[in-house]
Amino acid sequence: MFDKILIANRGEIALRVLRACKELGIPTVAVHSTADADAMHVRLADESVCIGPPAARDSYLNIPSLLAACEITGADAVHPGYGFLSENARFAEILAEHNIGFIGPKAEHIRLMGDKIEAKRTAKKLGIPVVPGSEGGITDDGEALRIGKEIGYPVLVKAAAGGGGRGMKVAYSESELSMALSTARSEAKAAFGDDAVYLEKYLQKPRHIEIQVLGDGRGGAIHLGERDCSLQRRHQKVLEESPSPALNTAQRDKIGEVVAKAMRDMQYLGVGTVEFLYEDGEFYFIEMNTRIQVEHPVTEMITDIDLILEQIRVAAGNNLPCDQAGVTFHGHAIECRINAENPFNFRPSPGTILHYHPPGGMGVRVDSAAYQGYKIPPYYDSMVGKLIVHGKTRQECLMRLKRALDEFVVDGVETTLPLFKTLVRNQDIIDGNYSIHWLEHFLAQGGLKT
Ligand code: ADP
Repeated sequence: MFDKILIANRGEIALRVLRACKELGIPTVAVHSTADADAMHVRLADESVCIGPPAARDSYLNIPSLLAACEITGADAVHPGYGFLSENARFAEILAEHNIGFIGPKAEHIRLMGDKIEAKRTAKKLGIPVVPGSEGGITDDGEALRIGKEIGYPVLVKAAAGGGGRGMKVAYSESELSMALSTARSEAKAAFGDDAVYLEKYLQKPRHIEIQVLGDGRGGAIHLGERDCSLQRRHQKVLEESPSPALNTAQRDKIGEVVAKAMRDMQYLGVGTVEFLYEDGEFYFIEMNTRIQVEHPVTEMITDIDLILEQIRVAAGNNLPCDQAGVTFHGHAIECRINAENPFNFRPSPGTILHYHPPGGMGVRVDSAAYQGYKIPPYYDSMVGKLIVHGKTRQECLMRLKRALDEFVVDGVETTLPLFKTLVRNQDIIDGNYSIHWLEHFLAQGGLKT
C-alpha cells in the first residue's frame, strides 16, 4: 500500500479522496492555489503545500509544482480526482518516471479513450455496441454526404478531441451537412487545437445511461451497475440516479457483462465509466471516462462499495473487493449537483456563504467542501456540493430528496437549489419519464417559474 498520498485537486472531490485515505490509514498531502488557502481540504489534510497562483494552469495543472510537492513531502502516490490532470496520460507517465504512483488507469488506456474516434473503434472491436456513423475521422464533404445517406438524417458532427459538449453540430438534412461540418471543425480547432471530426446518427430522444467499472489491471474486472444521467443542461449532467427507471435487472446484467468483459479483455486498471445513449431498448456507446466521476456516490449508495477506496487499493496492486456475483444492488439513490449559480440564467454566483446548514438524517449524504463563512472563489467550477439520498424504493428516495432539499440552507450566494425543489415535484420526474432533452425543454418553457 502507498505510504502517503498527494491529492492533486480541490473542492469536494479533494475532501472525498481525503476521507478514503483516512479510512485506509494513509497520511495525506493537500495542494492548493493561493485562492484556496482557507479551503476545507487544506484544513483536514495532514500536510499542505501551496502550488501556485489562482489560475488553474499555474497551480492545479502545474506538473513541475506538483512533482516538487511530492518531493518535499515524500508522497509516493497522487490521486488526481476528476477534471484537471485526471485524464492526462502524460502526467501519469511523468509520475511513473519519478517512481510515484498514479491512482488511475494505465497511461495507454487514458490516451486511447481520450481520442473519441479511437475510443469508438476500440469499443466496437471489444464487442460494445456503438452509435452508427463514420468508421473514423471525416476528411472530405463527399464522404460525409455518402455516410449521411447511409445512416439517415438527422446526423451529428462531433469533435474527435471533444469534451464538455463542445464541437458538436446537428444536421437535419443533406443541405445542412456541409455547414455543420465547417462549424464543428472550426469550433473544435478553437477549443482543442484539433479539427478532426466524425459523424454519428443523431438520436432524437435517448437517455444517457452509463456503466461503472472497476478493474485490477491484470484481466479482472467487475461492473457496478448503471447511472442514469439523462437530466442535462448544455450536455452537462444536473441530476443522476441509480438504478435507471428505464432498465430492468436482465437488461442491466446484459449490458453490464458486455462492458465488464471488454474491461477484462483490455486489462483495465481502476475505476472507469462507459457512457451510452439508450433508445428503444438499444445501447449506443458514446465515450469512456478513465477517472472517478462526479456522480460516483449514487453507485456507492446502492452497492455499499467505496469506489475511491477501491480505486486506491487496486492502484497499489490489490485484488478487486469481490467477484461479479459479490456485487449486489439495494434500493435507489439520486444525486443533485448544487451549483452557486442563478437558478434562472445559470450565471455563476461566487461570494461568501453566510449561512450553511446541510440536511441530515437517515439515507442523506452531502459531499461538499463548503462551510459557513467560506468564500467561493471565482476561478473554478461553481459546484457547492452534491446532495445524495438513498431509499429502499425510488418513491421513498424521492420523498426523502424532497424533505432534504427543503432542509438545505445556503445563504449569501445564489444556488440551483430552487431548480431541484421544482424538479422533485414534477410529474415526469416522479414517473422517471425523461430523455436527455427533457430539462432544456422544461427550462425553455419557463418551467422553473411556475
Ligand atoms: P462530451 O465528451 O463533449 O461530453 P459526449 O460524446 O459524452 O461528449 O456527449 C455528451 C452529450 O451529448 C450526451 O450525453 C448526449 O446528451 C449528447 N450526444 C452525444 N452524442 C449524441 C448522439 N449521437 N445523438 C444524440 N445526442 C448525443
